[in-house]
Amino acid sequence: MSFVKLKLHPSILSNITSLGYESPTPIQAQAIPVLIKGRDLLGIAKTGSGKTVSYVAPILNKMAYGHAPKKSRQPKVLVLVPSRELAIQVVEVFKELSHKLPHPIKSMAIYGGVSINPQMKAIFGVDILIATPGRLLDLQRSSAIDLSKVETLVLDEADKMLNLGFEKEMQEIFELLPGKRQNMLFSATLSDQLAGINRVLLSNPEVVEI
Ligand code: AMP
Repeated sequence: MSFVKLKLHPSILSNITSLGYESPTPIQAQAIPVLIKGRDLLGIAKTGSGKTVSYVAPILNKMAYGHAPKKSRQPKVLVLVPSRELAIQVVEVFKELSHKLPHPIKSMAIYGGVSINPQMKAIFGVDILIATPGRLLDLQRSSAIDLSKVETLVLDEADKMLNLGFEKEMQEIFELLPGKRQNMLFSATLSDQLAGINRVLLSNPEVVEI
């Protein structure tokens, strides 16, 4: 199968080609068409499967076909991740795939363990926010960020987030989001605790297991 079949915006296809990817991995081939349609998704896939591109490409695809977002403190996309390392990896993929889009897209990673003040300043104008839960709540409480306009929520490595004890923070974040949104949840494993999160978060999801 080729990426051309996935009907992505030409600029995203061109960015994928520039990275040297010749064909979609199984999770990409299955998840991208579902996500482009706007459906919720539960993806059971490990790191190394290509799961990041499987949600980054459809998210950017929607933005490429939409209007240029207004610069504000109200991101349209929120990606929750368990660690600083993953936040940095994910923002890199968003940046690599968002060159040459019809309008510029600002993606940014925020995480704890570093000073909060530079993040508060840099966050203005962000369209796509990739965040660890604790630091996101700190920024929200100090009014640096407003989550009421989030249209797409991704939980990446959801099982790891729960294992690290982030459930309370995650629930608190979900309550700040508008009710109408697309949800994408990725996890390497499926536990009872995760099934509880899926029930409150996902609406009639397509399940893709690799
Ligand atoms: P991930 O599972 O998202 O962490 O991706 C694992 C690795 O696979 C990353 O180093 C990506 O650059 C690479 N990758 C993702 N999609 C493809 C693809 N379609 N073809 C080849 N490599 C890929």
